[in-house]
Amino acid sequence: MLKLHTLDLHDRAPRVIAAFLLETPEGPVLFETGPESRFSALLDGLNALGYAASDIRWVFVTHIHLDHAGAAWRLAELGATIHVHPKGAPHLADPSKLWASATRIYGEQMEALWGQMGSVPEHRIAILQDGDGVEIGGVRIEALETPGHANHHHAYRLGDVLIGGDVTGVRIGRGPVLPPCPPPEIHIETWCQSIAKIRALNLRKLYLTHFGPTDDVGPHLEALEARLLEWADWIKARLKQGQSREQMVAEFEAYVAGTLRAAGLSEEEVQEYEFADPAWMSVDGLVRYWTKHHPEEVMA
Ligand SMILES: [Zn+2]
Repeated sequence: MLKLHTLDLHDRAPRVIAAFLLETPEGPVLFETGPESRFSALLDGLNALGYAASDIRWVFVTHIHLDHAGAAWRLAELGATIHVHPKGAPHLADPSKLWASATRIYGEQMEALWGQMGSVPEHRIAILQDGDGVEIGGVRIEALETPGHANHHHAYRLGDVLIGGDVTGVRIGRGPVLPPCPPPEIHIETWCQSIAKIRALNLRKLYLTHFGPTDDVGPHLEALEARLLEWADWIKARLKQGQSREQMVAEFEAYVAGTLRAAGLSEEEVQEYEFADPAWMSVDGLVRYWTKHHPEEVMA
């Protein structure tokens, strides 16, 4: 039985961003680091399990978005090796482009949200290709190329359990699963292919960065795909009508909040979803998807 713990990084609220700690006879392995702004919460979580940050020799990040890998450089400074997708590796070594791209999305909130930027020295980066496995303390960790949310996304399979990152969606508590769709790399067709690839593994459990383990894997993946297609169509219809971004954001925020309230969630829980997966960000990501990949289909 895997000793896999969920660490709550308390990003503005509980259950927004997780990291996962696997205990093995050779030492602990960390999946996801959270943002640098929440590094102290990560340390608290490690301490509660009896570890210091310097005990972490292996880190695996699903992708290099700042809520998943923003603190990787802090762990590398302490001696950890960061495992990452080949297309993510250059951005760990030199995060300036990633930082500039995130600044276009978050503007003046950058530092408050994500903390400090730092780089991971190349000798602390281990690149994994699709299907590559690393064995640590008797546990095989297999990287699975799973694009769609980002084009440099890995999920990590540990037997019949998957650390899913963002390609397996956002689902908080008893709420429904939603697809996080930030710009600039959302691609609906490849995301659906990734979901099919994951479904074929017959997994027992998914660990979501936003947030935690879920064990009704089949229905979860089915609902994720249905919602992804529904959101994409929602945006496509408004683009064809020539709606402005402002109008789309306002309507989409209300639409998503309505979905969550209809599922019986409290206002606090609706807010946790909005922190983990802001509706306005998915508008921008899906608008970009349509205008970049299928411009002919959304001409007003
Ligand atoms: Zn994320």
